[in-house]
Amino acid sequence: MNHRPTPPGQSGCVCAACWHVFNSPSAFDKHQPRGTCADPEQLGMVMLREHQGRPVWGLSRRTDLPARTEEAA
Ligand SMILES: [Zn+2]
Repeated sequence: MNHRPTPPGQSGCVCAACWHVFNSPSAFDKHQPRGTCADPEQLGMVMLREHQGRPVWGLSRRTDLPARTEEAA
């Protein structure tokens, strides 16, 4: 499923299953390659910042820029 909940005022994605926060849909997809949660740290993701006390995970520090607006489509 491509269910990607987005927190208000935030371009990232929150996993509804484990509440990990991701900075992009692509990072979220990597977290759930087959609809099952994977540990972002084991996937090689990096903690970019904190959002409301929770770590925000990204594929790498270079992809922390909200360059694309695919969520708006
Ligand atoms: Zn998850």
